[in-house]
Amino acid sequence: MITRILPGQSDSALQEAAELLRCGATVAFPTDTVYGLGAHALNAEAVHKIYEAKGRPSDKPLIILICDKTQLDMLAADVPEQAQKLMDVFWPGPLTLVFQKKADVVPDYVTRGFETVAVRMPNHPVALNLLKKAEVPVAAPSANLSGNPSAVNAEQVIKDLDGRIAAVVDGGSCQVGIASTILDMSGTVPVILRQGSVTKAQLEAVLGQPVEDGFGSAGKQVKA
Ligand code: AMP
Ligand code: MG
Repeated sequence: MITRILPGQSDSALQEAAELLRCGATVAFPTDTVYGLGAHALNAEAVHKIYEAKGRPSDKPLIILICDKTQLDMLAADVPEQAQKLMDVFWPGPLTLVFQKKADVVPDYVTRGFETVAVRMPNHPVALNLLKKAEVPVAAPSANLSGNPSAVNAEQVIKDLDGRIAAVVDGGSCQVGIASTILDMSGTVPVILRQGSVTKAQLEAVLGQPVEDGFGSAGKQVKA
């Protein structure tokens, strides 16, 4: 496969990238944190291509990126009021929230058997524009070979994934440079599954309640 490089500032190129996503191809694109490797989240073959391209362990669930809150209502069974507060402050931005999933909508091949779904709204004009044009929820882990550092520009994506994905949207370098903070809001107490640029203190200040540390347990909760 020849990996195309599409310019992120071109509206027609983004339209093409969106079309690729809708049709089940894999497309890497910039977000505020790192480059993501996207695929149609509700298309089994498309999601499988992410695992193949990255050499990603099959038990690791994927984060779904969205561009507006109505998409969240489609994916999450329950959005607690506390999570709403966090979204008001940190979305779009580098915070991923984990919710109980709508089991009839969110397939097991995305969540790898978990009853939860991880969702984020990235704060990046190219990512938001692409997601809007794609009109589907897009599963997107970091755009690197599994085990390698996250890519923060298109050149690094190409270094790892050239010939393995349909396209990369070149939108320059990512601002934050580290993966999102992941906070599990699906239980009685909020738990940080991965520390990113949003800190525990910031989360606690918004929530007005303590947050537990569960670093390293991302995707390791008890499966259904
Ligand atoms: P990456 O593959 O680098 O994009 O990281 C995605 C992270 O999100 C991994 O650590 C996953 O385990 C985590 N993740 C995705 N979905 C879920 C979920 N439903 N529950 C908990 N963690 C999740
Ligand atoms: Mg990663």
